[in-house]
Amino acid sequence: MAEIFASVDLGGTNIAGVFAGGDGRIVCERTVSTESHEGAPAVLARIADVVESLAAECGNRPAALGLGIPGLADLKNGVTKFLPNLPTQWRDVPVRDILAPKVGCPVYLLNDVRMATLGELVFGHGRTSRTMAFFALGTGIGGGVAIDGKLRLGPLGAAGELGHQTILPDGPQCGCGSRGCLETLASGPAITAEGVRLMLSGLAPQLHQLARGEASAVTPKEMATAAGLGDERVKEAIVRAARYLGIGVANVIAILHPDLIVLGGGVAAIGPLLFDTVRCTVRERIGMFPTDDIAIKPSLLAERAGALGGIALAMKGGLLRD
Ligand SMILES: [Zn+2]
Repeated sequence: MAEIFASVDLGGTNIAGVFAGGDGRIVCERTVSTESHEGAPAVLARIADVVESLAAECGNRPAALGLGIPGLADLKNGVTKFLPNLPTQWRDVPVRDILAPKVGCPVYLLNDVRMATLGELVFGHGRTSRTMAFFALGTGIGGGVAIDGKLRLGPLGAAGELGHQTILPDGPQCGCGSRGCLETLASGPAITAEGVRLMLSGLAPQLHQLARGEASAVTPKEMATAAGLGDERVKEAIVRAARYLGIGVANVIAILHPDLIVLGGGVAAIGPLLFDTVRCTVRERIGMFPTDDIAIKPSLLAERAGALGGIALAMKGGLLRD
């Protein structure tokens, strides 16, 4: 029987597990609610249950498990250090040593967005790239960087926090403690907040119709549709956010001269208006070397990037051996 690997993405809302072969083909998957209020031991038991049920379903035990976590960990010892969105923040929880005996295989931890970057590197557009940066544009802006084919980790696996570069020195307060981070200007909530404001001010009739006037129905994708239907103010709001993102992308390009930039997450669903504005901003901002050969693309794996990153992590036996 061919070797099989497990990947679990631990999120604040869901635990998403998949099993896949070394070719990245997913053979079975299961998602359950995290119930994070029950605390770390209960959540870890639930992760083990997910792995157990997947092993039973596909009749094969995993050779290793890659576990994506929403925060920082001591990667060498598999101990979580700070998971800001989970109750008690999981400080110094020996996740690897608790989980490995339960699932019966080695367990490797990695920040969830770095894991998605690894997925894109190994199974996505990164297969033909040497140096790439991944921007995960969602509720926040996460990121990851691979240099010469290798994911850049740093001592806490924290390298690549692309959303927390300063774009506006006196800009909005950011959750990280700083001000004017890219995340405060171009994340999903930053973009939709402006869409909601325009809609409620009577400046976005198309968006008002699409969202039926409900703030909760306004998404970056709906805003892109409204812009396409003629809401000029909505279009301006998207272009403003995309220009900020373009500056963030240009900064990374100036530092790394990568051959690939991948934009993933819900905000990337805005489509051509976002990508064209980012490409244009990069051309404007980088004058020191030609940027025509730097591809700026949507994620090939989309919402599968994290899951497949966990499979790549398990296959590699962690990343600290490289
Ligand atoms: Zn920040």
